[in-house]
Amino acid sequence: MTRLLRDVKRWCEARREINSIKRKGPMSIQTMTCRDVVATLDDYIANRAPTARRRRVDVHLSECDKCSAYLRSYAATISAAKSAFSEDRTAERHELPDDLARSILRNRARH
Ligand SMILES: [Zn+2]
Repeated sequence: MTRLLRDVKRWCEARREINSIKRKGPMSIQTMTCRDVVATLDDYIANRAPTARRRRVDVHLSECDKCSAYLRSYAATISAAKSAFSEDRTAERHELPDDLARSILRNRARH
């Protein structure tokens, strides 16, 4: 199975979990604040967060545009950094695009 397929499968499973949690009502989930989510994002992206915490982050992300945007910027930054270090190219080609940098700073300021 390709990595993409695995990611899609995991995402579908997460959506199902979120929907079943939502059906049980808001009292059944231990809510996380935006600050909690940002604090745990590193582990979340690296797949190191315990399953229960991942689910709570998934639930929060499904309802919070700010954190979803932050996660996207964060993941994009990590993958840009990884490709910068893993490939032998000129430094200019891997500079953080201005609009991405601005978007990250903007999102950080809100948290
Ligand atoms: Zn949030």
